Amino acid sequence: MATEDKPDKSKVGGMEKLQKLKDELYRCIHCRACRFSFSGEPDRKGLGEHKGVLYEGMLDGCPAGHHFGWEGFWNAGRMWMARAVLEGDLDINDEKIQSQLYDILYRCPTCGNCSIQCENNLPTVDINEALRACLYEAGAEMLPKHSGMKKLIDAKNNPYNEDHAHRTDWVSDKSVIDKPNAKIAYYVGCTASYRMQGMAKATESLLNKLVKKGIIPAVLSSAPDNGTLQRK
Ligand code: SF4
Ligand code: SF4
Repeated sequence: MATEDKPDKSKVGGMEKLQKLKDELYRCIHCRACRFSFSGEPDRKGLGEHKGVLYEGMLDGCPAGHHFGWEGFWNAGRMWMARAVLEGDLDINDEKIQSQLYDILYRCPTCGNCSIQCENNLPTVDINEALRACLYEAGAEMLPKHSGMKKLIDAKNNPYNEDHAHRTDWVSDKSVIDKPNAKIAYYVGCTASYRMQGMAKATESLLNKLVKKGIIPAVLSSAPDNGTLQRK
């Protein structure tokens, strides 16, 4: 991978982010409740090793854990790993550990089910992302697909290889694009702009209802740096 594709380590601040989350991370009691989601059926038979006794009504809610089926892929295991990195029990400068951790951490799509389920309100996705940042800091390479997405974002301001000039093609009333003095600005992500335009249009129609109340909306023509995607 070309050197310029690596994030600037001085800006990643992975260990610093993880240190800031330490108090919250240490509230994890490894109960594993974060692997479930409520089925809507309170009497449904329970899951897990306590079949029929615990977790009645629940379904498997962690796609990574469900698919790979090993502790490290569920959130509870990731929280142990984060703790081990902070304690120095896992040396992320060791290439073998680095590559194994990388493989595990990037199987998580950061869907957030675990953070919703956690009774202790752990910011599990933030911790997972901080752990990933620690790996970059320690010198891990980007996955080829991530490197490709970064190149597209840098070149075209979106990861879908679409022409930036067509970003606002879906907007019905072009006069609202970057409208000055608007009261509300709609910052439209790349996915809504190019792949899920129905969602963008639905939001536009809601905003248009505000016009009757004298609130003028604007649709921004650019999402500056795709920060959410790149942070992950
Ligand atoms: S993150 Fe929350 S739900 Fe998951 S194991 Fe830790 S304390 Fe339990
Ligand atoms: S955010 Fe990751 S660990 Fe948490 S439920 Fe989703 S896939 Fe599982």
